[in-house]
Amino acid sequence: MKVSKRQYYQTQKKFSKTLIIIPILILCFCILIFFQWNRIQLAIKGYNFAEQGMILSLDDKIIQDYLTNEKIENLESWNQYNNDKHYQEYSIYQQYHPAMKQQEIIQYIDTFYSNYYEKLIALHYPFENLLKYMQTASLNDFDYLIQQKLDYQQTEAYLSIQGCIYTDLKKYIESSKEPLEAVLSISYPFIDSHYKATQNYLIVDPNSYATLIKKGFQIASDYVPKDLVTPNIPFSPDCDNKQLRKAASDALEQMYQAALKKDLHLAINSAYRTYQQQKAIYDEYHQKYDEVTANGLVAIPGSSEHQLGLGVDLTSQSVIDGKWRFFGDTPEYQWVVKNAYQYGFILRYPSSQSALTGTANEPWHFRYVGKDIAKIIYENNWTLEDYTMHYGFTGQLEKIKKD
Ligand SMILES: [Zn+2]
Repeated sequence: MKVSKRQYYQTQKKFSKTLIIIPILILCFCILIFFQWNRIQLAIKGYNFAEQGMILSLDDKIIQDYLTNEKIENLESWNQYNNDKHYQEYSIYQQYHPAMKQQEIIQYIDTFYSNYYEKLIALHYPFENLLKYMQTASLNDFDYLIQQKLDYQQTEAYLSIQGCIYTDLKKYIESSKEPLEAVLSISYPFIDSHYKATQNYLIVDPNSYATLIKKGFQIASDYVPKDLVTPNIPFSPDCDNKQLRKAASDALEQMYQAALKKDLHLAINSAYRTYQQQKAIYDEYHQKYDEVTANGLVAIPGSSEHQLGLGVDLTSQSVIDGKWRFFGDTPEYQWVVKNAYQYGFILRYPSSQSALTGTANEPWHFRYVGKDIAKIIYENNWTLEDYTMHYGFTGQLEKIKKD
């Protein structure tokens, strides 16, 4: 049969139409699968249907982040606020600042994105680092980096140091000091009590055995160590503060036994004190003496090693019995000063270092820091201040606002 030209073209047209429609259909199908696949993956991660919808309304790149990261909690509650939907960053920021209100968190992150994000990326700050900096940085801190045109290469080494103060960054750079030395000597000169404490900092997590606590560096009044125990050692008759943190208590028991073998009889005068007990002692000293004298004799409430559960005032049976007046004169003291480091203790306030520690000679006060650190401090003839200046802070610090 002869096919007419017209019929031929119609068939061709139909055929080419089909040729176009099929790939389009396949493409549509693939796109459909792609979106559904994301939804399926989100469902596997544990997001409910409403949450899947919220995530899928975001940019593709961000959706990929949700697919690769762990599930974010509170996603639906974040969405109750009028926000720019940086749910992941809200969650991260909330973990850093658990006490902060949701609305404040959203405001911080949304402002960060609208005002600072692009400018900081242009200064070569990696996004992951910016997220880390949010642990301590205020929006003003980010603003400072931009205003001063400080790029990542210039600031990286300082920003990685615990306690770095953003608004001091220019001074650090100009000082040409090693980063740790620059941060500590410029922002915290009063680690060394030759310098007056101009600012008070809260030690956010004081659980480290090397925590430096003194004027300018305080712990919360409600901080109570979680592992307090009573060591199996004699106490002076009027001792009401018998507990120490477990590691310090165990170490002290060992030290007591070792001393006993040399016929030396140690005892505890005072160990863990609550904030309120420290305050009572502080108030009493301030009634008895002038302020300067009192400050050198007793720690300000919140800055006592006794509240850390790591400071202990030692005495000896011979002092309790009245054979000696002062522990510092006894053979027990002579032995402890030489041997305490082997058990993780240091003589915290040596007479030769009063100006540095800010505390008058206290031959009875020993501080647990752990064996390794005690050895370093003992062998270098250091104080805990020297150790901190060489090794840095053990944890995060927060500025305490002045009343
Ligand atoms: Zn003490």
